[in-house]
Amino acid sequence: MKPLVGITGASSGFGRALAKKFSAEGYPVLLMARRIERLEELGLENAVCAKVDVTNIDEIRAAIDMAEAQYGPIDLLVNCAGVMLLGNLENQSPDEWRQMLDVNVMGVMNGMQAVMDSMKERRHGTIVNVSSTAGVEAVANHAAYCASKFGVVGLSEVARKELAPFDVRVIRVLPGAVDTELLGHTTNEEVKAGYIEWREANKVNSITPEDIADTIYFAYSMPQGVNIREIQITDTHQD
Ligand code: NDP
Repeated sequence: MKPLVGITGASSGFGRALAKKFSAEGYPVLLMARRIERLEELGLENAVCAKVDVTNIDEIRAAIDMAEAQYGPIDLLVNCAGVMLLGNLENQSPDEWRQMLDVNVMGVMNGMQAVMDSMKERRHGTIVNVSSTAGVEAVANHAAYCASKFGVVGLSEVARKELAPFDVRVIRVLPGAVDTELLGHTTNEEVKAGYIEWREANKVNSITPEDIADTIYFAYSMPQGVNIREIQITDTHQD
C-alpha cells in the first residue's frame, strides 16, 4: 500500500480536490476539517475522517495518531485549511484579523510541528503549505490575508532550510484566484462584490481546484531528492 497522505481543509475547495486525487491514485488519506460530515460524504476508500480545528495542535496530533495506527507513518501533509476575510485595515474587525492569522499561520505551523519529528527520524517526508499569490503580492483590501500568506511563504522557506539536511521536503504553493467557498466567508459585502467584479472583468474563470490538486500531486511525485520549492499557479488571465 502507498504511504499515508494527510490533508487539512479537506471538506471543500482545494483540499476536497486533493482528497479525491490522492485517493484515486491509491493513497490512504487522512482528511481533516471541522465539518466532518463533509469528509464522510466523500465516501473515499482507505480514508480516515477526523474533526480537526487546525488552530488546536492536539486535535491534529490525535488525528494523525489515529490514521497512522491504521496506515503507517504519514509521508505527505498538505496544510491547505485557510480562511479569507477580506477587508481594509481602517475598519475591519481585529477578530477577523486574528481568525486569519490563527488559521492560516498558526494552523500551518501546528500541522508542520505535528509531523516534523517523525519525518526527520525516518529521513523521508514532504510538507506542502498552501499560501497564495497574495503571499508575494500586495493586494488592496487583503491586508491581514496578505500578512498571513506572506507569513506562510516565510515560514515555509525557513522550514525548508531546516529540514533539508534530513531529506524532508517543504514545498509552498501559491495559487491565484480560483472559484471555491473561500470568498463566502468575507463579511464586507462591498469588498466581496469588488472581488467578484474583478474576477469577471478579467475572465479569471478557467482554473479549477482540480488543477491545484494535480499540481500538488505532480510536485509530490517527483523523486524525494528533488524539491520544487515554490509553485505559483494562476488562471492564464490573472494579471
Ligand atoms: P474553501 O473555503 O473552499 O476551503 C477552506 C477549507 O479550510 C475548508 O475545508 C475548511 O473546512 C477549512 N478550514 C477553515 N478553517 C479551519 C479550521 N479552523 N480548522 C480546520 N479546517 C479549517 O477554500 P479554498 O479551497 O479555496 O482554500 C484552500 C486554501 O487555499 C486556503 O489556505 C486559501 O487561503 C488558499 N488559497 C485559495 C485561493 C482561492 O482563490 N480559492 C487562492 C490562493 C490560496 P471546515 O470549514 O469544514 O473546517
